Amino acid sequence: MMAHADIKPFVCDWPNCSYKAVSMSYVTNHKKTHTGEKNFECGYNGCNKRFVKSSHVNRHQQKCHPEMMGQTIIDSNEEVEVYNISTIEI
Ligand SMILES: [Zn+2]
Ligand SMILES: [Zn+2]
Repeated sequence: MMAHADIKPFVCDWPNCSYKAVSMSYVTNHKKTHTGEKNFECGYNGCNKRFVKSSHVNRHQQKCHPEMMGQTIIDSNEEVEVYNISTIEI
Protein backbone atom coordinates (compact mmCIF):
# COMPACT_ATOMS: atom_id res chain seq x y z
CA MET A 1 0.00 0.00 0.00
CA MET A 2 1.32 3.35 -1.03
CA ALA A 3 1.67 6.06 1.52
CA HIS A 4 0.19 9.40 0.80
CA ALA A 5 2.60 11.15 -1.50
CA ASP A 6 1.37 14.63 -0.86
CA ILE A 7 2.68 15.24 2.60
CA LYS A 8 3.91 18.79 2.61
CA PRO A 9 5.36 19.65 5.99
CA PHE A 10 6.71 23.03 5.02
CA VAL A 11 4.22 25.82 5.13
CA CYS A 12 4.37 29.46 4.18
CA ASP A 13 4.03 31.55 7.31
CA TRP A 14 2.85 34.59 5.44
CA PRO A 15 -0.45 35.86 6.88
CA ASN A 16 -3.48 34.39 5.15
CA CYS A 17 -1.38 32.20 2.90
CA SER A 18 -1.94 28.46 2.95
CA TYR A 19 0.89 27.48 0.64
CA LYS A 20 2.55 24.16 1.51
CA ALA A 21 5.48 22.37 -0.03
CA VAL A 22 7.59 19.28 0.32
CA SER A 23 10.79 21.27 0.69
CA MET A 24 11.72 24.44 2.52
CA SER A 25 13.39 25.73 -0.60
CA TYR A 26 10.05 25.69 -2.40
CA VAL A 27 8.53 27.74 0.37
CA THR A 28 11.45 30.14 0.33
CA ASN A 29 11.05 30.50 -3.39
CA HIS A 30 7.31 30.90 -3.10
CA LYS A 31 7.64 33.62 -0.48
CA LYS A 32 9.34 35.84 -3.01
CA THR A 33 5.93 36.25 -4.53
CA HIS A 34 4.98 37.99 -1.28
CA THR A 35 8.14 39.97 -0.71
CA GLY A 36 8.98 40.78 -4.30
CA GLU A 37 12.51 39.73 -3.50
CA LYS A 38 14.84 39.71 -6.44
CA ASN A 39 17.34 37.00 -5.87
CA PHE A 40 19.34 36.84 -9.06
CA GLU A 41 22.12 39.33 -9.35
CA CYS A 42 23.85 40.33 -12.54
CA GLY A 43 27.20 40.71 -10.80
CA TYR A 44 29.00 41.71 -13.97
CA ASN A 45 31.78 44.25 -13.37
CA GLY A 46 30.07 45.92 -10.46
CA CYS A 47 26.63 45.79 -12.01
CA ASN A 48 24.34 45.14 -9.08
CA LYS A 49 21.07 44.85 -10.87
CA ARG A 50 18.84 42.18 -9.41
CA PHE A 51 16.14 40.11 -10.99
CA VAL A 52 13.42 37.72 -9.99
CA LYS A 53 14.40 35.01 -12.45
CA SER A 54 17.71 33.82 -13.81
CA SER A 55 16.31 34.15 -17.31
CA HIS A 56 15.77 37.84 -16.62
CA VAL A 57 19.44 38.16 -15.75
CA ASN A 58 20.35 36.50 -19.02
CA ARG A 59 18.15 38.88 -20.93
CA HIS A 60 19.63 41.87 -19.14
CA GLN A 61 23.16 40.70 -19.82
CA GLN A 62 22.45 40.20 -23.51
CA LYS A 63 21.25 43.74 -23.70
CA CYS A 64 23.66 45.54 -21.36
CA HIS A 65 26.76 43.36 -21.39
CA PRO A 66 26.82 41.68 -24.78
CA GLU A 67 30.59 41.29 -24.46
CA MET A 68 30.12 38.72 -21.73
CA MET A 69 28.00 36.47 -23.90
CA GLY A 70 29.89 33.45 -25.09
CA GLN A 71 31.70 33.29 -21.79
CA THR A 72 30.58 31.37 -18.77
CA ILE A 73 26.87 31.75 -18.44
CA ILE A 74 25.30 32.06 -15.03
CA ASP A 75 24.03 28.74 -13.83
CA SER A 76 20.68 28.37 -15.47
CA ASN A 77 18.10 25.75 -16.24
CA GLU A 78 17.07 27.61 -19.33
CA GLU A 79 19.94 26.61 -21.52
CA VAL A 80 17.82 26.63 -24.62
CA GLU A 81 17.62 30.40 -24.41
CA VAL A 82 21.36 30.62 -23.95
CA TYR A 83 22.06 28.52 -27.01
CA ASN A 84 19.78 30.67 -29.08
CA ILE A 85 21.81 33.70 -28.10
CA SER A 86 25.04 32.17 -29.26
CA THR A 87 23.69 31.82 -32.78
CA ILE A 88 23.42 35.58 -33.20
CA GLU A 89 25.83 36.77 -35.87
CA ILE A 90 28.02 39.72 -35.15
ZN1 LIG B 1 2.75 32.25 0.85
ZN1 LIG C 1 24.31 43.90 -15.45
